Amino acid sequence: MSGKWKRYRPEHSRMFNDPRWADLKRLVWHRDGGRCQMCKREGIEAGIQDGYIRSGFACHHIVPFESAKTTAEMERLFFDANNIMLVCRECHAKIHRELGSKTKAAVQARRAERFERWKDKLKRKVNG
Ligand SMILES: [Zn+2]
Ligand SMILES: [Zn+2]
Repeated sequence: MSGKWKRYRPEHSRMFNDPRWADLKRLVWHRDGGRCQMCKREGIEAGIQDGYIRSGFACHHIVPFESAKTTAEMERLFFDANNIMLVCRECHAKIHRELGSKTKAAVQARRAERFERWKDKLKRKVNG
């Protein structure tokens, strides 16, 4: 939940404070057996490290609700148990590092493309 990747907007905190979110977190916790789903996938003893269960569990949204274009879509993504998985703090940080770098790369690519187009336009202008 921490880091620069997430921009908090009032409608986000409204959802996080919604009693439905508390219920949903409980539901996801039970469904995923209180285990990090990423660790499980990577074959790490289901989130258990050095004999203890990794702490700082988070409910991660698989499709980021921040990407929604409408409030209705955002709420659908946010409150959808199928769009949430239980992850430990380490994996959660890793997921968002990767998501963040992907987003950054996309932004850079778009910027480069825009710059090329702008150069073309300028060239055409100069050449009359
Ligand atoms: Zn994990
Ligand atoms: Zn997350």
